[in-house]
Amino acid sequence: MPGMSAKKRKPSQSRRRSQVGRTARRRERPRRIRADELARDEEILHEKILRGRDNEGAPPEAPSSAELTAVTRDGSVLAVRGAVIGVQPCAQGDPVPCVLRKSTRVPHSRANAVAVGDEVTFLAQGDPPYVLTEVKPRRTWLARSRRGQEEQVICANVEQAVVVASALCPPFKPRLIDRYLISAGQGGMRPLLVLNKTDLVPPGEPDVLLEPYRSLDLAVVACSAETGEGFGELEDALRDKLSVLVGQSGVGKSSLLNRLIPGLAVRTAEVYGSLGKGRHTTSTSTLYAFPFGGTVVDTPGIRSFSLHEPTTEVVASFFPEIVAAAADCRFSDCRHRGDLGCALPRAIERRQVRADRLESFLLLMDEAEEGKGDR
Ligand code: GDP
Ligand code: ZN
Repeated sequence: MPGMSAKKRKPSQSRRRSQVGRTARRRERPRRIRADELARDEEILHEKILRGRDNEGAPPEAPSSAELTAVTRDGSVLAVRGAVIGVQPCAQGDPVPCVLRKSTRVPHSRANAVAVGDEVTFLAQGDPPYVLTEVKPRRTWLARSRRGQEEQVICANVEQAVVVASALCPPFKPRLIDRYLISAGQGGMRPLLVLNKTDLVPPGEPDVLLEPYRSLDLAVVACSAETGEGFGELEDALRDKLSVLVGQSGVGKSSLLNRLIPGLAVRTAEVYGSLGKGRHTTSTSTLYAFPFGGTVVDTPGIRSFSLHEPTTEVVASFFPEIVAAAADCRFSDCRHRGDLGCALPRAIERRQVRADRLESFLLLMDEAEEGKGDR
């Protein structure tokens, strides 16, 4: 995206990959923090902030090290609503409201200080809300980028990005799917491609659409939220992992979640209903447990999530068949756009490369080279 220059330093790909596996660590099934509970906590917080105003500028009272070890707790962020951060303690117990302070150690941009899934430590001292002492470095992230704005992390430490596409209505859009897959890969998440609405197309069609993706290093599932077809496979792919669903509006993300988690419809309405009042600009994100094991992060922000600026290396890694065919181009700097000695027209003739994949590849490469990330 033009103007989107503020980029965070990211750990190397190999380090991230090896760390991603560790998120597979079993988590206690989290209790959901309800919007009204957070609203109540926020009232309490506002009161505290108002009362504390007189002390502004005074040096913060540093707790003694004995006090620190006695009350420092680890947890993970379940929800962010305004200034209130809902934290699930690692040791058992209910989620607690926490707040950030200037003293909180944050290893990344403070504009992006906390997101759902962040691992934190807090000082369990006095009455809640408790103060966060540290936000830990992120292993993975899903970031939203908007034109001219710094990217905003919407969830962290999620293992798997489930890229949902539909076979029809809206039509299958390979270029958009590639963008989501690349974005997931750049945040260090493992991509899972789900083709929904298989009930709307003839039986052989899903395989034809998914064929180019099956050769990539990613899991692929075809299913229908309407009929339940393919749900056994989908549940296997989601079991015991922390996932997030992304994809164009209308592809069936909510329908999939509703079928995977009985009773969810009522609860999402509850959360979104209170957000609809427009009191807060920050999205509430929520973790939901699958009855068959595993967890999903759901946030309204993800629905309008736009994509990362890709790098040429990451783009190339999603098009191995094109990279392989391009090895036969006469010139190493071949642009594959009717260049002399380009091997790609022949590769397309021989069905080693699909024309629509080449088109997607060239567009994404242009964006990567120009530093643009727009759709
Ligand atoms: P979201 O915007 O990605 O959350 O999509 P929704 O879950 O709201 O679904 C959009 C529309 O597609 C709704 O009218 C759903 O009923 C419909 N839909 C979702 N999944 C399927 C499916 O597998 N088959 C069919 N025929 N319709 C579906
Ligand atoms: Zn070429």
